[in-house]
Amino acid sequence: MALEMKTECERCNQALDHDSEAWICSYECTFCAPCSAEMKNRCPNCGGDLQRRPHRSSDIT
Ligand SMILES: [Zn+2]
Ligand SMILES: [Zn+2]
Repeated sequence: MALEMKTECERCNQALDHDSEAWICSYECTFCAPCSAEMKNRCPNCGGDLQRRPHRSSDIT
């Protein structure tokens, strides 16, 4: 089964569309920016570091 880009924060269920700032861990747990900041960029599910999800591949600088 292919991994899908999640479209909402796992913590507060805020919608995260492809243009929203989202943070993901290496297991693809997905959170909004405020939740990520509150958790100090640490995933509560697996303990991994959260990293900012690129908006689009073409936006990577
Ligand atoms: Zn959230
Ligand atoms: Zn995780």
